[in-house]
Amino acid sequence: MSFDTFLMVDWSGGNDRGPTPKKDAIWVCATRDSVADEPVYLRNRIVAEYWIKTFLAKERLAGRRVLAGFDFAFGYPAGFGKVVTGSDDPFAIWDWFAARVTDAPDNNNRFDLAGEINAMFPGIGPFWGNGRKRDIPHLPRKGLDRHGHGMQEKRKAEEEAKGAFPVWQLSGAGAVGSQVIMGLPVLSRLRAQFGTDLRVWPFEPLDAPIAIVEIWPSLIAKAVTLTMPDGRIKDAHQVELLAQTLSRLTPGQLHDMLDVPITAEGSILGLHQVDLLEQIAMGPAAPPPLKNDCFAMPQGAYWTPVDEALTHLRRQLSAVAATETQPIGQAAGRFLAQDVMAARSHPPAPNSAVDGYGFAGPAKEGVQTMPLVQGRSAAGVPYKKTIPEGHAIRILTGANLPDGVDTVVLQEDVTATPAAIAFRGPLKRGANARDAGEDMVTDQTILQIGRRITPGDLGMLAAAGVGHVTVHKRLRVGVLSTGDELREAGSGAHAGQIYDANRPMLCALLARWGYDVVDLGRARDDRDGLRGILNDGAARCDVILSSGGASAGDEDHMSALLEGTGSLALWRIAVKPGRPLALGLWNATPIFGLPGNPVAAMVCTLIFARPALQVLAGGAWAEPQSFQVPAAFAKSKKAGRREYLRARITDGKAEVFASEGSGRVSGLSWATGLVELGDASQTIAPGDSVTFIPFNGFDA
Ligand code: AMP
Ligand code: MG
Repeated sequence: MSFDTFLMVDWSGGNDRGPTPKKDAIWVCATRDSVADEPVYLRNRIVAEYWIKTFLAKERLAGRRVLAGFDFAFGYPAGFGKVVTGSDDPFAIWDWFAARVTDAPDNNNRFDLAGEINAMFPGIGPFWGNGRKRDIPHLPRKGLDRHGHGMQEKRKAEEEAKGAFPVWQLSGAGAVGSQVIMGLPVLSRLRAQFGTDLRVWPFEPLDAPIAIVEIWPSLIAKAVTLTMPDGRIKDAHQVELLAQTLSRLTPGQLHDMLDVPITAEGSILGLHQVDLLEQIAMGPAAPPPLKNDCFAMPQGAYWTPVDEALTHLRRQLSAVAATETQPIGQAAGRFLAQDVMAARSHPPAPNSAVDGYGFAGPAKEGVQTMPLVQGRSAAGVPYKKTIPEGHAIRILTGANLPDGVDTVVLQEDVTATPAAIAFRGPLKRGANARDAGEDMVTDQTILQIGRRITPGDLGMLAAAGVGHVTVHKRLRVGVLSTGDELREAGSGAHAGQIYDANRPMLCALLARWGYDVVDLGRARDDRDGLRGILNDGAARCDVILSSGGASAGDEDHMSALLEGTGSLALWRIAVKPGRPLALGLWNATPIFGLPGNPVAAMVCTLIFARPALQVLAGGAWAEPQSFQVPAAFAKSKKAGRREYLRARITDGKAEVFASEGSGRVSGLSWATGLVELGDASQTIAPGDSVTFIPFNGFDA
């Protein structure tokens, strides 16, 4: 189920509110393709009806599907329509009101009409609340004065919507009855005007360009409060936030929301998906693109130290992956786009940590005997009554402590008969019991924005009642190899050709890091060909890792093309192995031009691309996890550059690959990690402590 435009209307039952925007007037806000217009203030219902009709007509002309939400009840509690109109058709009551309601900016007949309706019912009611000074026949001033009218107080939807007011109350703080009476005639006229182009939820299938649904902005009240800009009128903010939230639902999520039983009472859209709506409402909009000069670094004659290059990436990059709300089952490995708070405490209630017997502690020293209450408290099946002082009750692990119980004695420590237990004290108050919220408390922040969700996080989220989280979409990373000499592994190759080692290696590394890998294949050393591949890749990917052709030589077409965009930064980093890194943006997509040499390509990916990709994906900047281990080798290195040696741990010591030659691809397979040697000059003797980064230390 998908719509192009979402129009939200905050209706009002009152009189004209004047020319300057005010609260409690009618406010509307539309989003088109998820982008919100400014909320519009409509001073009275006559202006509003005209505005809405014009808006819907324009959208229909433009061929855009609209979902229009109105915040008043589309129906009354069951049986009402039959009494008033003689029909159960929900639209009969709409038309009935349309034929009788008279509306002017400063006067309308809603109270008199409610009195007339009340006269059709036995007893007194169901409508009440008289906003006029004069008495109105059959319309009591107080709700308690009603009796015997035979109507339910609330629709089913209002019973489920915490804090919703009944439709019978016409005046007083929070009353909604008047806006229903003053709103239904407008909906009736919309139906008449748009005919089969307009359908009403949940009474009809939404198979027309315009769908009208009942909304209740208070469903996202929490998000409205938390996101409200200073000085903004609440009605304006909530229509905008609701429109934006609904527009961000996936078609599947919207379909589920619309899928409710059809009754003449109607329903409230999203009533059973409040968590999801709140999550989406709190989520940030699509991130802004990177700036064209984000990779530009002050270039001197000198080589940039590794830390300086990393600091630059950390400062200049930001998330480019859009956000979405997902069930937690889909969220493993994703980066959180907002903090997560516990939806409820864990444990939710005090419960027992063991199988045993519960009572009011503490128990004194020496043998204790206690009469047993009949029954038991088990996990999921709590005992509901209070345990009298001095009594005990059978209780099982995970069961809620009944009232009167705060301490549990282990069953192994007890001699029990059906009527009583005996055990040896002392036992402290609270022994073997867990407090409510001792693990997590409702609304406590349990995970922070930028976190990559782990399996352990999922356990915690589920326990804290969190069913959905707002995460970044998986970063789509394109992988491209360049060079005329490259052939596909396994194909034929003559002596002047080599096999493309970088692509399978980098694709696997990126997949392991949880990204969506897009294999962009191989590019010849040919500028036009490469340009075509970049155009295609930039359209399909959030970021591209290419290898080869990144220097400034004749056949270094990647650098040349990026130069043409004005975004090229050739980074000369003081690192071994490594050659210049060519960074830039192609059609706003960041490109990491890695050295062609597989060892350098791998090291540069691990050291520079990895943290950059994490930030682009919405993650927090994260250092790889390293360990200090004794060296099993000797080496002396010069000052001025950092070195990464292929290494592995043998007998608790770091061994390094026999050759430092960066053409030796076999060393990447031999190694289980890298030894990192700092920028300063250094002489390492066997047994000296060195920094070892296992390859899986780059995973987090
Ligand atoms: P370049 O950065 O294009 O000058 O390449 C540096 C070295 O890496 C050359 O020896 C290339 O043949 C080699 N090379 C480039 N790309 C790859 C690749 N995808 N697989 C294996 N070797 C490569
Ligand atoms: Mg090349």
